Amino acid sequence: MQPLLPEQLDFQQKAKSGLDIEGRWPIAKLSRLAEVIQPNEGDLQAHLHFDREGKYLIVEGQVKASVEMACQRCMQPMPVDLQTDFKLAMVLNEEQAERLPSTYEPLLVTEGKQNVAQLLEDELLLVLPLVPRHEQQCSDYLQQQAQRMKQDAELAEQEKAKNNPFAALKDLL
Ligand SMILES: [Zn+2]
Repeated sequence: MQPLLPEQLDFQQKAKSGLDIEGRWPIAKLSRLAEVIQPNEGDLQAHLHFDREGKYLIVEGQVKASVEMACQRCMQPMPVDLQTDFKLAMVLNEEQAERLPSTYEPLLVTEGKQNVAQLLEDELLLVLPLVPRHEQQCSDYLQQQAQRMKQDAELAEQEKAKNNPFAALKDLL
């Protein structure tokens, strides 16, 4: 099993000295993500690379997490594999962010330590489907539901026929 990621790192310092780490972090600890997914016991997996690129201090990497969300059509849980690659350049203010080349997304940093899990959570939230819906499984589910409704309707029809005196008369003829 991969080691836990450090909770905090000095991003600017790590970018200056260079750092490559891989690790995991409990998904349940990401409170903003936890609000929109089903309860999750798993871990996210991430790879982070801190470095200098020209005059920029960057952090790039990948984060992956397998979660479940409620399907917005049938309300049943559906698996969602979240995965995203990112390349961020550290900025100290909005002005610096605006001057960044388009190959980077800005990452606002302050002096000292930054929260690693929060960065990864931000990235995962960006790729979360807005309206999660089953593809295959959902149509199966809806098909079963339609089947049940049809059976119910047929039963109701038979029930109605039984209570219909003309139907009984017809049987006599
Ligand atoms: Zn569904």
